[in-house]
Amino acid sequence: MSLDQVIADACLAGQAGRFDIGFKDGVIVEIAPHIAAAPREHAEGCLAFGGFAESHIHLDKACILDRCMIADGTLAEAISLSAAAKAAFTVEDVYARAARVMEMAILHGTMHMRSFVEVDPRAGFRSFEALLRIRSDYAFAVDLQICAFAQEGLTNEPETAAMLEEALKAGADLVGGCPYTDPDPVAHVSAIFDIAERYDVAADFHTDFDLDPERAILPEIIAQTLARGYGGRVSVGHVTKLSAMGPERVARLVEQLEGAGVAVSILPATDLFLTGRGVDRLIPRGLAPAALMAECGVVVSLATNNVLNPFTPFGDGSLIRIANLFANVAHLARDSDIAAVFDMVTVNAARQIGVRYGLAVGMPADVVLIDAPDPISAVRQPAPVVAGWKGGRRSFVRGRAQLLRPAK
Ligand SMILES: [Zn+2]
Repeated sequence: MSLDQVIADACLAGQAGRFDIGFKDGVIVEIAPHIAAAPREHAEGCLAFGGFAESHIHLDKACILDRCMIADGTLAEAISLSAAAKAAFTVEDVYARAARVMEMAILHGTMHMRSFVEVDPRAGFRSFEALLRIRSDYAFAVDLQICAFAQEGLTNEPETAAMLEEALKAGADLVGGCPYTDPDPVAHVSAIFDIAERYDVAADFHTDFDLDPERAILPEIIAQTLARGYGGRVSVGHVTKLSAMGPERVARLVEQLEGAGVAVSILPATDLFLTGRGVDRLIPRGLAPAALMAECGVVVSLATNNVLNPFTPFGDGSLIRIANLFANVAHLARDSDIAAVFDMVTVNAARQIGVRYGLAVGMPADVVLIDAPDPISAVRQPAPVVAGWKGGRRSFVRGRAQLLRPAK
């Protein structure tokens, strides 16, 4: 069989030695120590993997620091500054900012992405329209899922529910809610589940985003997931309240998450920035215990969430950077924990958002090279990404850094 492309001399996770990876018609057809023939690209011992999967990002409200003056750095301020900014968003403006983040993410090795997009009386369908165009214009490098999202409540603004449904009819992939901004969080959760069921799509909730251990909405989401037979199609983001609960309560909730099939996105950059405000010493980290959840069988991912806006005035779309940040802040040290963190930005995140993923024969030829011999080293450094192929076609190149010594 003649191959379209061979990536030669790559390291693979969990396997000793170097391997060649052969593509044909956009599919991986062979992985072996040596594959003859075909155009070759030398990996020079870089780790080859299936690319990063971003389970939770907001492309529509990224890169708006030029129009938001952050004073307190609180969640309430972030919501109100963003709400004011989004009323003035145009399709072209959202497209340009989303494209900027999309290109950063691609160049950092992301190949699957779920983005929220706010659809409500202030945003109209302008952000949604822009993301539909982004999804198609960047399909050569990333599979983008669009989550029609009610950021600012439903029961207080009933027209938003109809708008979410319009977006689903017009091509949104799933629906998302934010019970903590709704005066009636339980009714909000029910309404989002009702829409998800009606359109047979997944549901994704921004959940329990503060450090008060009481009044968690998570048990309600777990209960409705079970009652509606929706396991495997529900995600929650943040759940920072878990970092404020005692170990027994956390263990019980983690067991329930696993049993119900509710996946979790941890959003370290935002959680670190927005929680723990108003404390003048021993500032809490405010991160849900991802390592514990993963160990107990919950599908857990780490994700970017926001980039350069009042929720997170930092960011570059790099998931290996987020993995490194989390591992450091979460006190992780053992190799097994660091390896699990790599899974949280790759295979687990892909599983959470329901995409085919993995570097194996018969799978789509989605391959990223990162300048490290194995996943653990990649997270510890964090290592730079070198190049990527999407569906067998080279979709980006960064190249390896080179030291230029003086001539002798
Ligand atoms: Zn979010």
